Amino acid sequence: MGKLVVGTTIVCTAAICGVAILLMKHHKKNSSKWEKAMDILKEFEEKCATPIGKLRQVADAMTVEMHAGLASQGGSKLKMLISYVDNLPTGDEQGLFYALDLGGTNFRVMRVQLGGKEKRIVKHEVKEVSHTTHTKNIMAGSSSDALFDFIVTALAKFVATEGDDFHLPPGRQRELGFTFSFPVKQMSIASGTLIKWTKGFSIEDAVGKDVVGELIKAVERVGLDVRVAALVNDTVGTLAGGRYNNPDVIAAVILGTGTNAAYVERAHGIPKWHGLLPKSGEMVINMEWGNFCSSHLPVTEYDQSLDVDSLNPGEQIYEKLISGMYLGEILRRVLYRMADEASLFGDYVPPKLKTPFILRTPDMAAMHHDNSADLKVVGDKLKDIFEVPNSTLKMRKIIVELCDIITFRGARLSAVGIMGILKKLGRDTLKDGEKQRSVVAVDGALFEHYIEFRNCLEGTIKELLGEAADSIVIEQANDGSGVGAALLAASHSQYLGLEES
Ligand code: ADP
Ligand code: MG
Repeated sequence: MGKLVVGTTIVCTAAICGVAILLMKHHKKNSSKWEKAMDILKEFEEKCATPIGKLRQVADAMTVEMHAGLASQGGSKLKMLISYVDNLPTGDEQGLFYALDLGGTNFRVMRVQLGGKEKRIVKHEVKEVSHTTHTKNIMAGSSSDALFDFIVTALAKFVATEGDDFHLPPGRQRELGFTFSFPVKQMSIASGTLIKWTKGFSIEDAVGKDVVGELIKAVERVGLDVRVAALVNDTVGTLAGGRYNNPDVIAAVILGTGTNAAYVERAHGIPKWHGLLPKSGEMVINMEWGNFCSSHLPVTEYDQSLDVDSLNPGEQIYEKLISGMYLGEILRRVLYRMADEASLFGDYVPPKLKTPFILRTPDMAAMHHDNSADLKVVGDKLKDIFEVPNSTLKMRKIIVELCDIITFRGARLSAVGIMGILKKLGRDTLKDGEKQRSVVAVDGALFEHYIEFRNCLEGTIKELLGEAADSIVIEQANDGSGVGAALLAASHSQYLGLEES
């Protein structure tokens, strides 16, 4: 009996000790897991840092590249494309015009009834098609014909649903502006060849072709009677739309699926090699700033691997740090490393975390916006997107911190691009006695909906410009790129000068 008690006691003590050791091991493993995760976070934060000195270096590099890109064709990673828009809208535009707006995520068809100086935009109707969900297979690997047939089919449907309140004088052809948000080398206001695809598009047989020619062929295939009056980049459209509303608009920036900017260059800034003298002393330049690159950019290992795995490695480096297509994917890559090396989500890496682009920037923004005490939205997103059923508050907090780091870097770098333009135009400092205002029109869903991004961008402009910031206005341009294209179609109409009959 005594032996049994002693034996049992020994067994129990050994069991308790075993449990204690296991608990200690678990605790140690757990604490080393957090330590490792924090190490990864800290290292990432350091590599993403954008102190003001670095931002100034990047702004200077942007200005230098702008000069180089203008000075000679191929002289810079910035293409600085001549848009052939040298007469921005004045407000006098009249009549019914259409626009097609092909972005990286959305495709919009619209009609705008313009009523001149007095009546302005009388009526405006938009139909939006998300081509990434509706036509995933068109974006990559299909054919130029398939893409343009898709565009024109939407236009034909839209035209067929026209109400009586839109007025096209009898006998007149419908005229449209085509907003095409990819790099195009323009030959005139209504023709230009596609230089390359960006933002996840890859339709090889379209590269090098005249975009308007392809559109017209598709128009003929469906038997529509339409004239393409203007081919514009979305930045140029946004600038035109912005100028229509506000004469102080001097530049436009897109922050959506991708990022880009256009600005108004003075005639003496346009080099002779273009063989072109702007009529008005101004010319809109499409910078294609998404392709900007500088050794001063804070690029991390996650950005490098994202770039290597992308459809356009080595290109659009600035865009890959900033724009909506990529922010969520950068976050996924950091989380993957935390799952793999620090067991952030337990002993195995959640399989969904391995899927590129599964974490979209709108979901990231929703997590970042979460101000509930238990970060419920973050927990729900982890469950819905990565199938992580039980996330702790500690985990969720790490994710919000990563959102902060990624978004602040992107927003601060976007502000620096704007600073580069202001410097190029000599509008970054206050001049004695001068009261010039510079308005930058910004369009794109990233800027519109990602509040932290937007606030940080605006704050950084103030930080960079100091006193001069009072003369700079960052203005949201709603749907500016489409309306701008319709306005440019109006100012390049074949019926210009003819009375509406
Ligand atoms: P496009 O680039 O096709 O012209 P948008 O300007 O609408 O279209 O931008 C779409 C992109 O903006 C999406 O791909 C996404 O990355 C980003 N985006 C959309 N909604 C949000 C949101 N709520 N928060 C953050 N980013 C968003
Ligand atoms: Mg767009």
